[in-house]
Amino acid sequence: MAPTSVWRLLALLALAGPALAQRAEHYSLHVRPDIEAQRLQVQARLQISGVPPGSRELLVAAPGLQLSHAELDGQDLPLRHSEAGWHVQLPAGVGPGLTLALRYQAPAAEGLVFGPNYVYTAYQSCNWLPCVGRLLERATLHVQFALPPGWLSVASDAERPYPLYVLGFAAGRFKEASETASGRTLRYLGAVDDEAGLRARFASTPAMLAFFEAKAGLPLPHAEYTQLLVPGGVAQEVSRHAVIGKAMLDPILETPEEDWVIAHELAHQWWGNLITCADWNEFWLNEGITSFMTAAWKQQRWGEAAYQRELELAARRWERAKAAGFDKPLSWPGDYPSLGLKRAIHYSKGMLFMHALRQELGEAAFWQGLRRYTQANAGHSVRAADLQEAMEGAAGMNLQRLFERWVY
Ligand SMILES: [Zn+2]
Repeated sequence: MAPTSVWRLLALLALAGPALAQRAEHYSLHVRPDIEAQRLQVQARLQISGVPPGSRELLVAAPGLQLSHAELDGQDLPLRHSEAGWHVQLPAGVGPGLTLALRYQAPAAEGLVFGPNYVYTAYQSCNWLPCVGRLLERATLHVQFALPPGWLSVASDAERPYPLYVLGFAAGRFKEASETASGRTLRYLGAVDDEAGLRARFASTPAMLAFFEAKAGLPLPHAEYTQLLVPGGVAQEVSRHAVIGKAMLDPILETPEEDWVIAHELAHQWWGNLITCADWNEFWLNEGITSFMTAAWKQQRWGEAAYQRELELAARRWERAKAAGFDKPLSWPGDYPSLGLKRAIHYSKGMLFMHALRQELGEAAFWQGLRRYTQANAGHSVRAADLQEAMEGAAGMNLQRLFERWVY
């Protein structure tokens, strides 16, 4: 993910006040894109749990949506809008579980991108989803589309819960190519480029899939993985697909080694999506591990020099954070003064820490530790202690001092 959007969302959530106990466990959306008006017409059903007894109000933390109707068991509910979102007035005696029906429009916004004949979501979930609960909490999403003839679509896995920020979908008059690898269907959709171009750009995907499955010790968690090529420079992991900007992938046509963005977003299917940091201050568990796995892919495919180059680039970014007097432990809970510094720690220092662990443990124990971590935590939220426990189990040694130095 490009981390530029994290802060705005955190600010938005802070407005929502103290953490609410209730959350939606399942979102079912019926989506009709209106391309001309650049908006979605949506009918939604939310299965909500944890509503405290006596609650008379429920917050839908999505202030940018234009909510027109809320209904519970056939009864219309009054709505009030504030900076925090939509306050739905509940009748007496409901909860702790309820199914809320909503009707709304979602206008084009950050994370909801309209093109001449397509629409896709990227990260800013509460700009198109009526969020109830924290972005790091898991929910399932089922999307039904009403689309013009000839349009294709992709959406999150409706069976397996994922954090809200990696839920998403795309639909449009896309070009399509596909192939089978490791028993999975790999789909390449293009809002730009033709079928041959898509195949050329994404040619390395099958080999990457085999590499990550072996290192994770777990197969890709879906029968299908889709990569959507769009104009611009976006790079966003979603729970069963990735959205990749053409600008990010143009270099690969000249220089096949420039494949990091495909590897990075595919690696997130395990590290980031399937296994997610429990708290934003441990976002390095998503991005540091993924950045390291991208470097490890390059090492296996393009050789030792390619791996060393990734480490050098990361070291240079970390050096800049040090020079700015802002070298923080990986799980530091404070605020970063800039995105660049946060990224230098979570992505770059995170990658270098994984390399340091690899050197400390040796090849066999390190990769065994990574498999333990991945297998033990699939489908769950993690903290750095979970990585430490898995690595210590594989290494048969106490790693507290190493983790103290880098992480805590
Ligand atoms: Zn990422």
